[in-house]
Order: sequence, then C-alpha cells, then structure tokens
Amino acid sequence: MDSFLALISSQRDFFRTGQTKDIPFRLQSLQTFRNAVKLYEKELMAALKADLNKSEFEAYTTEIGMILNELRFTMRQLRSWTKPTKVKTPITHIGSTSYIYPEPYGTALIISPWNYPFLLAAAPLIGAIAAGNCAVIKPSELTPRTSAVFAKMIQDVFPRKYIAVVQGGVETSEALLREKFDKIFFTGSVSVGKVVMKAAARHLTPVTLELGGKSPCIVHEDANLKLAAKRIAWGKFTNAGQTCIAPDYIYVHQRIKDKFLGLLKEAIDEMYSGQTITRIVNEKHFNRLVSFLDQGSIFTGGKANREKLSVEPTILTNITWEDTIMKEEIFGPILPVLEYGELNEVIEGIHQHPNPLALYLFSKGSETKKEIVNSVSFGGGCINDTIYHFANPHLPFGGVGTSGIGSYHGKNSFDAFSHQKSILKQTNLFDIPFRYPHMKNALKRI
Ligand code: NAD
Repeated sequence: MDSFLALISSQRDFFRTGQTKDIPFRLQSLQTFRNAVKLYEKELMAALKADLNKSEFEAYTTEIGMILNELRFTMRQLRSWTKPTKVKTPITHIGSTSYIYPEPYGTALIISPWNYPFLLAAAPLIGAIAAGNCAVIKPSELTPRTSAVFAKMIQDVFPRKYIAVVQGGVETSEALLREKFDKIFFTGSVSVGKVVMKAAARHLTPVTLELGGKSPCIVHEDANLKLAAKRIAWGKFTNAGQTCIAPDYIYVHQRIKDKFLGLLKEAIDEMYSGQTITRIVNEKHFNRLVSFLDQGSIFTGGKANREKLSVEPTILTNITWEDTIMKEEIFGPILPVLEYGELNEVIEGIHQHPNPLALYLFSKGSETKKEIVNSVSFGGGCINDTIYHFANPHLPFGGVGTSGIGSYHGKNSFDAFSHQKSILKQTNLFDIPFRYPHMKNALKRI
C-alpha cells in the first residue's frame, strides 16, 4: 500500500500559504461545491440507484437535497461564525479583554460509511471547508459507484493539494490512519471507531466519531397512535432501515399494542407496498438480516429476495432481550417489538445497554416526556417523531458513550473542524502588583 505522505505534505504546504483561511476563499469553495453538486445531481442519483437501488425521491430527500441545504445554511452563517467572540473577563484581570478565535486545525481526514454514501462524505467536508482546512476524504468501498462519482466531482473542482478523495477499502483506510493528520472525522461502526481512535492516539489527533447502536422507539399508551405509526414506519424503512438513527426496536405499552401494530402495518402498506425499495448493501449484510427472520413471530413482512438483495419491511413480535436480534444494531428493515407495562421497565431495559445514538418517544404526557429525556442518556432524538432531528442544522448531531464522540451539523460542523484559540489582551496603562512576589508597589513603577 502506497504511503500518503506526499499527498498530506502537499496539503500541509498549501495550508501554510494561508489561502484556505481567507473568508472569501472559503465562501467561494462552498459555492463551487454547491455548483458541483447541482451539476452532478443526475450522476449521483444514477450511482445511488446502482449501488443501493435508491429511488430518486430518497436520493434527493435524504442525500443530495440535505447537502444543498447544509451548504446554503453554512454560506449564510459563515462570516458570523469566523468572527472572534469577545467573552467576559473577571475583575481580577482588570484592564484586559478576552477573545476566542476559531482557527482551522490544518489537514483533516474524513472516513465515511456506505449507508448514505454521498451525504456522509459530503456533510463533514462542508464543515472542514467552512473552518478553513484542507481535507482528505476516504468514502466507502461498499458503494463504489457513488464513491467514484463523488471523487470525480470533487477532483473536477478542487485541486488535490486542497481537497483530495482517496478511494479504497480497509487497507487504504489503515494506510491513511498511519499518517499524521490534524483532525480525524470518522462515521461508521463502533468497532472501527475504536480502531480509528487508537490510530489517532499515536499522534494525539483530535477525533469526532459518529458511530451507531440500538436506538429505541417508545410508544406510550397516551400517544397519537396513527401519527406514531406513520412516522415510525417512515423513519425505520427509509433506506431499508440502513440508517444509523433509524428506530432499532419498538417498546410499546401493552394496553395499546394491538391497535398500534394494526396501524403500523397499514402505514407500511401505504408507503412501501409496490414501491422501489432500497436494497441491502451486500450479501453479507443480507445473510445477517435473514438470520433474524426466524426470531419471535412475524407480524407483517418477512420475505427476502436474495437475487435482488431486498428484504420486506418486517415487524417481529414476541421478542425479548435474549433474542440475538436484540444483541446488535439491526441496520436493516426489520423492526422487533418489545412490550411494557410501566415506564421504569423501559428505562431499566435501556440502561442495561450502551447509550443509544437516538431515542424516540411517542406520548402526549409532559411528565412522561420529562422522565425519559431526563433519565436516559442518548445522542439525540425526537418526541413524537423519528429521525427528523438530523435535518435541523441548529441541533448538534452526535452520539454519547459508545454511540460517538463530538457532534456536527450547522455551526457544530464548523466547530468540529476548528480549534478555539483563547486570547487575553492586556493593557499597558497600569499593572496590578498582587500577582508578583515581593513587588508590593508595582503600580507605582510603571
Ligand atoms: P464501517 O465502520 O465498517 O466502515 C466505515 C468506514 O471505515 C469505511 O470507509 C471503511 O472502509 C472504513 N473501515 C472499515 N474497517 C476499517 C478498519 N479496520 N480500519 C480502518 N478503516 C476501516 O461502517 P459501515 O458498515 O460502512 O457503516 C455502518 C455503521 O456506521 C453502522 O454501525 C452505523 O450505525 C454507523 N453509522 C453512523 C452514523 C452516524 O452519523 N453516527 C451514520 C451512518 C452510519
């Protein structure tokens, strides 16, 4: 495997020229990026179709449109984000003023996964450019057509000494991780997140880790069941459940379980029957998902097509925490249902497992909402909706515990790629004597 030293050195040299820090340069680069996405929109859609059988609707609403929005939002806000912030100074420091200057780290490495192969490579790159960095992006090898179009698009508009896309698999990723970067932004599985953090530790490189986990979806007895069913079906089965923040399993109150499951089946039929369904990324994941289908009882769905690598939206009932489907992140269109009588059972159940990346609660009760939000630790989530928080640029997006370190989106993406440099500006008009040893009359000495 080649060393990437020459590429990274060329980016360091370019960074040192100071060009990437220039605000008009950053704005122009974001505009160039936006124009390129529009120009490549059809090619990206075709690649997403070829890699994952994504419909144009899904490709636009969950990837291309999101990036265009994020670019527009970032361009509008950039000038205010880059300004130094004046902060308070305690009376003990009288005469001085204090500021925080955001500065780019330098050269950033972005490693991205296959499930939203364009979105998750492009979104961190917006933050890297906005903050004034150079960047190397390693998109996923499991969606090769989208990664190839992404590489072509980026290299058409940016020189490699500024932004470079490196295509390849695990070995390429490992070779990149051996080099010294100034920031690493990784999106992917918990196990590879640990590999990335270990590699980063060698150079003490700061990391953002956007990882995964099992995200619960609680349907309480006082929920609006029809809306809950529709919003859960959408959040779970978009992208065939291959979404890091998809509801992984449902916790439903036993009193409304039957009614809710009937509505959920109706919502699935309405949205997905006879429609183009995103396929499972490869045979390995297909086999893993099919192995879950003999657990509990199939309430709806359950068919899988090996040739097309597709799995029907499926609901499994009679599931307990002992089933293997509850032992790992599902990452596919299979939704197991657990039931509960008291809310403490839900809280206890979630507490026995690693911190979820997302949590969803459907309830009208303010006490129930307060109890769940205050007593369970998770990355982020929604009340009475699923996955929608991802698309609000004012909300930091990230995990906690094993679901991730750090966050991004909007200003948080800018911050993820910036060092906050603290500067205290001192006056020369007078001097406070008390801090100096043996100089009681220092004020008079100026
Ligand atoms: P993955 O961890 O297998 O791969 C992600 C990237 O890491 C790929 O580019 C891959 O080439 C590289 N990689 C794989 N093994 C490596 C190794 N040993 N050393 C160095 N690099 C390596 O993840 P995936 O299967 O592509 O994506 C699915 C996972 O990503 C799920 O767990 C999901 O929850 C998570 N995810 C998280 C978010 C988020 O925003 N938090 C978003 C999407 C996906």
